[in-house]
Amino acid sequence: MLELLELLKTAEISTVQDVAKTAYAVEILDLGLKYSLKKPSFCGFKNASDLYLSSFSFLSCSSFLNSSSNKSSKTQNQDYRMQEPYKLFELKYSYDALEPYIDAKTVELHYSKHTKTYVDKANEALIGLQKPNITEAQAYELSKQLDDNVGGVLTHQLYFNCLAKSKEKGGTGGVYPTSGAFYEAVKARYGSFDGLKEALKKGGLSRFGSGWVFLHQDLSITTAPNQEWPRGKKPILGIDVWEHAYYLKYQNRRVEYLDNIFYVIDWNYVESLFKS
Ligand code: MN
Repeated sequence: MLELLELLKTAEISTVQDVAKTAYAVEILDLGLKYSLKKPSFCGFKNASDLYLSSFSFLSCSSFLNSSSNKSSKTQNQDYRMQEPYKLFELKYSYDALEPYIDAKTVELHYSKHTKTYVDKANEALIGLQKPNITEAQAYELSKQLDDNVGGVLTHQLYFNCLAKSKEKGGTGGVYPTSGAFYEAVKARYGSFDGLKEALKKGGLSRFGSGWVFLHQDLSITTAPNQEWPRGKKPILGIDVWEHAYYLKYQNRRVEYLDNIFYVIDWNYVESLFKS
């Protein structure tokens, strides 16, 4: 994957042939957008490089999120393809597991309604894109719908997987690592896990309107609007700062939500992504 990132930075990828020369051409072509490579502008992408980057991003983040399982990358990519149509990922805990920090009703609505809608809309777009004789305008709309909703699925999969029952309820939520490479790296960059928490809070508060704050494998923090999956980064923690993530319990008080979510962050899981 590093090789691919380097290639994206340096190579001029302006034709289908350029893409075909890369080691990941097969995976890219398997993405379901493959026919649009023949005419990138058809799907609203400025050029082949733009489409390529977008396809690559879906592929890499999808296999990245599955990377804690002990599968070869080949199997991961096969699994990825089998997710079309996409399926709603399983929640690792019950709706009330994150109480009192995130209430059961919010988890239920957020998972079974909001997140499921992204899955349904992504599938609708995939099916639409495969229909013969769609117009260029329809293809543009559908590819945007696919991009937005796959982003929605991936961000929420990361978010829900990064949460767990709090330690006072016998879970791993809120328990900071006390040794190891992740612990040392956080200490070096942020002073402590409390320092990291403050930096993430600051990021989450700075995001105007709906969006996300992410911690990446290189321990940088970025924010993103709406459902934008970070391109060219490997997020290991994602915190949803849309109002639907906290409004029932916290109303407009995003700062209180951001304070309390740290009681249910599953640092074991975050660490597993850091090490992957
Ligand atoms: Mn959300």
